[in-house]
Amino acid sequence: MALECDLLSIIDGIPGLVAILTPAGKLEAVNSQFSEFCRLSLEALRNWTVNGTVHPNDIARIGPVFAHSTSTGAPYEYEYQLRRFDGVYRWFQVRGNPIRASGGDITQWIVLHTDIDERKRLEDRRWRANEQLALAQRLSATGSFTTDLIADEHVWSDELYRICGLEPGAKVTLQRFRDIVHNEDLSTFDAVVERSIGGHDADFEFRIVTPRGGLKHLHAAARLSDNAEGRPIFMGAVQDITERKVAENALRKSEHYARSMVDGIPGMIVVLSADGGVEYANAQTLEYFGKTVEEMNQWRLNDVCHPEDLARAIELFGRSMETGETFDYECRSRRHDGVYLWHRTIALPFRDPNGTITRWYNLLVDIDKRKRAEEAFAASEAELRRAYNSFRDAQRLSKTASFITDLLSDDHNWSDEAFRIFEFEPGSKVTVERIRALVHPDDLLSFNDVIQQGGRGADVDFFFRIITTSGALKHIRGIAHVIELVEGRPMFVGALSDVTESKLIEEALKASEALLAEGQRLTSSGTLRWRIADDDITWSNQLYHIFGFGPGTAISLERIGSRVHPDDVPMLYDMVGRARSGAPDFEYEHRLLMPDRSIKYLHLVGHRSEDAEGRLEYIGAVQDVTKSKLADEALNQARSELAHVARVLTLSALTASIAHEVNQPLAGIVTNSNVILRMLAANPANVEGASAAAQRTLRDASRASDVIARLRSMFTRKEPSIECFDLNEAAREVMALSLSSLQRNGVIVETELADNLPSVDGDRVQLQQVILNLIVNASDAMIGITDRQKRLAVRTERCADEDVRLSVEDSGVGLNPETTSRLFEAFYTTKTSGMGIGLAISRSIVESHHGRLWAVPKDNGPGAVFSFSIPTRARPSA
Ligand code: ADP
Repeated sequence: MALECDLLSIIDGIPGLVAILTPAGKLEAVNSQFSEFCRLSLEALRNWTVNGTVHPNDIARIGPVFAHSTSTGAPYEYEYQLRRFDGVYRWFQVRGNPIRASGGDITQWIVLHTDIDERKRLEDRRWRANEQLALAQRLSATGSFTTDLIADEHVWSDELYRICGLEPGAKVTLQRFRDIVHNEDLSTFDAVVERSIGGHDADFEFRIVTPRGGLKHLHAAARLSDNAEGRPIFMGAVQDITERKVAENALRKSEHYARSMVDGIPGMIVVLSADGGVEYANAQTLEYFGKTVEEMNQWRLNDVCHPEDLARAIELFGRSMETGETFDYECRSRRHDGVYLWHRTIALPFRDPNGTITRWYNLLVDIDKRKRAEEAFAASEAELRRAYNSFRDAQRLSKTASFITDLLSDDHNWSDEAFRIFEFEPGSKVTVERIRALVHPDDLLSFNDVIQQGGRGADVDFFFRIITTSGALKHIRGIAHVIELVEGRPMFVGALSDVTESKLIEEALKASEALLAEGQRLTSSGTLRWRIADDDITWSNQLYHIFGFGPGTAISLERIGSRVHPDDVPMLYDMVGRARSGAPDFEYEHRLLMPDRSIKYLHLVGHRSEDAEGRLEYIGAVQDVTKSKLADEALNQARSELAHVARVLTLSALTASIAHEVNQPLAGIVTNSNVILRMLAANPANVEGASAAAQRTLRDASRASDVIARLRSMFTRKEPSIECFDLNEAAREVMALSLSSLQRNGVIVETELADNLPSVDGDRVQLQQVILNLIVNASDAMIGITDRQKRLAVRTERCADEDVRLSVEDSGVGLNPETTSRLFEAFYTTKTSGMGIGLAISRSIVESHHGRLWAVPKDNGPGAVFSFSIPTRARPSA
């Protein structure tokens, strides 16, 4: 135990970690440094394999060593990492030694730990460095060596062995190395070795043939590092540059190839440096310009480029150099003989993998021929353009368009005018479908036919209508003609034209011709053309019909004369005479005596004209006015009869009454006057008797006056023949009768007859007489009017008080306010042939119908309005 204590105190004093183990290897004790290092209990330390006291990486390695020693009792040694209390592992070298009893049995193991952490880490670093170096050597295919040439001692790196194809670590001698040097390089190698022995650094390339027969290019460099005992020691490196060499060779070869190619190109190539300096120009270039590369490089200063093109070339070139854009310029380049030819110069930048421009490759292409052709073309182009413009104008003016069409591939080349006609956006894509969409539905069939026909390669003539997007209807006529067959497809060149206008005119003409014929038939009128020079007369069908001649038979003046009424033949001659003398226009009415003795009235209007050759001719229109003539005559007769009747009626009635009524007082007046004369002639005169007779004369005179008054009242009182009638209807009848005479007098007649006018009870004929009288007066009042339109308006209307009113308004002389009240007096007239009883009687008639008749000035403008109103049936007369 004392020993034990001693031992412990001894081991505590040892400046290192000490552990004491049982013979079987169980931990028995540790010194204070140990426990201080680990700060673990013995128990914990005993479990070193599982609690991380020893680094896990080391357990597998030291376990067997430990086991081996405890079983054999041999001392042991290993290195391992022990964990310090703070968790950091440190490297220790461990030596375990058995302590034996005198009998030789092992009593204990003393295990000493020496801290080798520092060394271990350095070693580790060196190892790593070596590894890295080896790796670097490997990667760069560079080996290193140390050589003592005189002692023939050489230390090689693994990589150098590998490069030379030798077994790593094998003994190297100068001779052994020399054996693998390529024959052709032996002299160089020997010379270098000799120089190096003289203490000179070396740097050279040589080839070796490895034991396996591979050729390698090596680059070796050696530097004198030491001069041990007068012996130079070199350190150096050898690099395998085989790959680079091969590449270089290949490059050299390809450069050669490229150059020969460039020189062989039948064009001029110039290679420029990144900044634009001329580096190289191929043989053709130098030959063409007759200059050296240096002279070419002076292109800005010499005559290589045409003076007129130079400034622009410099500008563009400078820009390309700056931006790296392709340089592309056409300019004239001077040939060695002084002739300038046009060239296109294209310079493309060549970039390295980083995108940096390293060179420019410049190609000069001879474009002289093209350029001259262009110049010639430009000269003729203006001409062409003018021609084209006028062609285009012509197309527009004539509304004619041209086109080239490949029907099968639906490819159409249209002129501007074609686009305009179809109202397509100029230059837009034209297809058959697009056209078809516009075609008038009625023309689709024929359009499709044309397309089909064209598709078969036949020339086509077409006509169709289109409705453009703006809604315009257009008539399109055109032709297309096959010009050639391209790959079996017919190509058409054609023209089309907008014939809408002429089409419309044509249609209008047709329509008007039809209308004319129809009109001639309806109006029983015919037309004629009469060329004076040769009496060539052309008649319309209707005229043949009027004259009763066979249609189309020859017409002569004699033939016409034979049909004209004998009484009117002089008129015909007169007309012919006037026409021959060139009278501008004439108008005649004459009669025909037809074969059936019937008479036709013709109204002829002739108008002087000229035919296409400028010869005098007349265009005439002849109307058969027989019917209206007869109607007119009938009308006139009816009118005069009516007037006559009215006059007779009023006059006879009046005269009879006057005669009857006035006769007696007149007779009395005559008798009494005689009496007076006789009494005054007696001697002495019977004054008394005479004055009595004068008294009687006066009485008779007032009786005569009374007669007139009674006459009026008699008209008034006379019971009219009452009937129920429509006043409008009655007014219309009167107007129909008076219309023609009003028109003859130039009077414009208006009627404004109220709708739904109530019927009136009364004497229709009497009231019609009133209306007629008012109309005749109105017409008379406008006879002398020349400064304004003669307007007569007849109006009927319903009055508020259940009367109907008829008024006749004129724009005649109007009313004189002083005399207006007298107009309705009997015998008041301002007309030379007037009787002055019309209005008086009219008023009597109206009043006998319980109505009123009055006159007022016209509202607006000169003239008068005469109106009467009478009660309607709704308010029967009392
Ligand atoms: P007459 O027509 O015979 O003169 P009327 O009795 O019909 O007799 O007319 C009497 C007069 O009234 C006419 O002479 C004329 O002066 C005047 N007169 C009638 N109607 C109109 C009228 N519409 N405008 C102006 N004066 C008229």
